[in-house]
Amino acid sequence: MTKPTLFDTHTHLNVNKFKGDRQEVTERARLMGVSGFAVVGFDYPTIDQALKMATDNQDMVAIIGWHPTEAHTFDRQAQAYLEANLTNDRVVALGETGLDYYWKTAPKEDQEEAFRRQLAMARDHQLPVVVHNRDATADCYRILKEERVGDFGGIMHSFSEGSEWAQKFLDLGMRLSFSGTVSYQNAQDIQAACQLTPDNCLLIETDAPYLAPHPKRGLRNETGFVYYVASAVAKLRATSLDDLAQLTYNNACQLFNLQATKQGLIRNDKRTH
Ligand SMILES: [Zn+2]
Repeated sequence: MTKPTLFDTHTHLNVNKFKGDRQEVTERARLMGVSGFAVVGFDYPTIDQALKMATDNQDMVAIIGWHPTEAHTFDRQAQAYLEANLTNDRVVALGETGLDYYWKTAPKEDQEEAFRRQLAMARDHQLPVVVHNRDATADCYRILKEERVGDFGGIMHSFSEGSEWAQKFLDLGMRLSFSGTVSYQNAQDIQAACQLTPDNCLLIETDAPYLAPHPKRGLRNETGFVYYVASAVAKLRATSLDDLAQLTYNNACQLFNLQATKQGLIRNDKRTH
């Protein structure tokens, strides 16, 4: 049996929940067929760790940004820090940024301002943006539209809305990335959104350590479990696991401007999207 070729476009292998066994979790993922890891940092310590992992491991790349729940701390210094690291060639996207109205840690106005400033930075650097949305879909959509996100593109990460919103975000030029939530039994809305997503706009992720997919629901999620996300998505789209894995792997490389080589994931010279 050959291993599938999986790209987990959103993992937090960099957080403390993996402090004790990061290497083992990484090895397990590789054994499950993961050959692309996008490690997402969202504050000072997690950005540092994401950059370190992407530098040390050729199958890893970093995505860096300021999380909406931390928007009130996105000051000049944080922005300058982000700005300075966006030119690192292991950094393939800006995020996660966006809006989160569930955890009320940062006021909505601060979130919107931090989101818009980061969208402007993504535009300047011609990097795709990775968007976190929790209970804030209409505002996310409005801001992405006003900031003309289609010029530089991006990902609605862990997409968990239905068909109507899926179509609207796709029309803005966003890709949709599905996580464990698509595999849950009562997730008909998300599953319908997954079915209507065009091949070239489809991505998969774990969002580990959160949102473990069926049949691992309730456990600490880990990157290797992207295998189960891929299985669920393949079934929904009536395709094979291998084809689905290869398709989403290629889509990730295209969006992140990467080439898969024997030495691992290497940045293309010029952005082609
Ligand atoms: Zn995340």
